[in-house]
Amino acid sequence: MLGLMQDRPLLISSLVEFAALNHGDGEIVSRTVEGPIHRYTYKDCAVRSRQLAKALEKLGVEKSDRLGTLAWNGYRHMEVYYSVSGMGAICHTINPRLFPEQIIYIINHAEDRYIFIDLTFLPLIEKLIDHLPQVEGFIIMTDEANMPETKLSNVYCYENLMATADDDYQWPAFDERTASSLCYTSGTTGNPKGVLFSNRSTILHSYVVCTMDGLGLSTMETILPVVPMFHVNAWGIPYAAAMSGAKIVLPGARMDGEALYELMENEGVTLSAGVPTIWMMLLGYMKENNKKFSTMKRTVIGGSAVPKAMIETFHREYNVNVVHAWGMTEMSPIGTVCNLKKKHESFSLDQKMELSLKQGRSVFGVDMKIVDGAGKELPWDGKAFGNLLVRGPWIASGYFKAEGGSVVDDDDWFDTGDVATIDPDGYMQITDRSKDVIKSGGEWISSIDVENEAVGCAGVAEAAVIAVPHPKWDERPLLLVVREQDTDVTKDEIIDHLRGSIAKWQLPDDVLFVDELPHTATGKILKIKLRAEYKDYILPTVTS
Ligand code: AMP
Repeated sequence: MLGLMQDRPLLISSLVEFAALNHGDGEIVSRTVEGPIHRYTYKDCAVRSRQLAKALEKLGVEKSDRLGTLAWNGYRHMEVYYSVSGMGAICHTINPRLFPEQIIYIINHAEDRYIFIDLTFLPLIEKLIDHLPQVEGFIIMTDEANMPETKLSNVYCYENLMATADDDYQWPAFDERTASSLCYTSGTTGNPKGVLFSNRSTILHSYVVCTMDGLGLSTMETILPVVPMFHVNAWGIPYAAAMSGAKIVLPGARMDGEALYELMENEGVTLSAGVPTIWMMLLGYMKENNKKFSTMKRTVIGGSAVPKAMIETFHREYNVNVVHAWGMTEMSPIGTVCNLKKKHESFSLDQKMELSLKQGRSVFGVDMKIVDGAGKELPWDGKAFGNLLVRGPWIASGYFKAEGGSVVDDDDWFDTGDVATIDPDGYMQITDRSKDVIKSGGEWISSIDVENEAVGCAGVAEAAVIAVPHPKWDERPLLLVVREQDTDVTKDEIIDHLRGSIAKWQLPDDVLFVDELPHTATGKILKIKLRAEYKDYILPTVTS
């Protein structure tokens, strides 16, 4: 017998309309690429999203068409999110940090009909234009006064296009499983693969972002997503903010410490979200300029493991609670969040910070398990580590255009490519990417653990551990370090520091100092490049 509840579809358009009605004066504040701070409300955002949808319809945009965006976090980008997905088309956020060949590849692969471009990215697209024959037009996200000269043809000014339509557009109703947005993973090997989110997956994911055991987003918060809207939809925050009515502050192109700090203070930001590298810059600025937060209470950090030293600095020096989170593009992205349980209330600050090093508990909706090489399920004892598999309603069942074939097994389990432990309370801890783990004499060394400790050593700005071939042990760890400016920390000092927390056999065989480390388009250390560069490196522990 089926229940007698209404089968109303879960649609993205309803988020912005809900916010307009219930949080009509809720603020959306943006640092524009043109310069000034722009502020308006959810009500304005809904009106303009409808207007833009109508203008796009006049332009001939149809359901399931892909429309690209090359844009920072800003109010116009929010409008594009809502209008494109709301009308049943697909918002394809393009990561401008990808290599030009990859950008060409994904625009062509997605078959983007139009591309919305922030002024900053005009030179980039001008360089690529000859390789993008099927794009019908470009919409520059500015007003007439700021329209630049360009060699692109079929160019529209965003505000002029908007002005061609009024706001009486009626959002269509359609199947909630309809695709809503597309985001390509910045895979380190092969071509990027498209993850195709749906209206349904986006709404369900937004609910979770708003739960207290998720990111706890509510109307009481002012959130600043530093994570870009071109990286897994800024972790779903632009949608969840509308669902909760939270004030949202969008930093535009300026993500340097000074600009972020200024926005956080001026706008009363209470919660922020981003990758560790961003916080390194912010904390560096605050230390140098002796700044303190007056409203910031929590910061969600994910995308890469949060170094212990960062958790400690936030807690001890700035009284900001670090909430470690884990996920991936294929998971919309939230999988686990490290919120504490009631029983941890009595923990000392040190114990709480230790727990925050874990990536956290799965949110309702994400099933998780760890398996060994033969696919046998491993216990949740906090010790056994294995390949991490996940499944759930906002986890990919395949890539766009079936690229890469089937990615889930018969029971829908998706292999994340991460290696992890899970403790009896359900807290998951990533020990490595399966490709990055160092296999030394049959034992596994977690590169994340060693990096985490290394970054805690005074004078170390950034660290990466990679496996280097070793005739006796198969692989041994090599530590690559970027020194903090004006410091001369030595190999011995770093090894001494590590000795306190890392087993002797896990200590790096050598430490090399480099000026910088290569990063992927989403800010992760590009280990594949480092491994290639150091594949012939002879460790001092190799005796000939
Ligand atoms: P992406 O799809 O670019 O978001 O990358 C997803 C991958 O980033 C995951 O599979 C992990 O390897 C890594 N990742 C994300 N969050 C964390 C975290 N908190 N700690 C360690 N690795 C993470």
